[in-house]
Amino acid sequence: MDGCIFCGIASGAIPAKVLFQDDHVVAFHDIHPVAPVHVLVIPKRHVASLAEVSPDDREMLGHLMSAVRRVAVETGVAESGFRTVINTGEGAGQSVFHLHIHVLGGRTFPWPP
Ligand code: AMP
Repeated sequence: MDGCIFCGIASGAIPAKVLFQDDHVVAFHDIHPVAPVHVLVIPKRHVASLAEVSPDDREMLGHLMSAVRRVAVETGVAESGFRTVINTGEGAGQSVFHLHIHVLGGRTFPWPP
């Protein structure tokens, strides 16, 4: 989508520290990490947020979750533990309106957040 920064990263037009990508998803390091491991997983296709997904997106959502596991393994936090976050809507802190999963690891995380 024109003007979407994560669409730009998905297409390669905007540089990012990409961990891996495939036909469906891109995993790249967050530009302002809040943990020793902070990777974002996005679908290549533009979807604004989790509030915008439809039943047709089930396969894409599966790709995202599978990629989250791969991020955890490749960054070495699969066994120590990791936090996944999807901010949905401004009220929840979403600032980039292209669906993304934060994968956070390398420190402890309080619960409730
Ligand atoms: P959220 O607030 O949940 O929408 O998260 C958006 C995240 O995108 C923030 O953690 C930002 O630091 C991150 N971010 C914004 N622009 C970039 C970029 N060009 N490359 C990598 N991460 C980015």
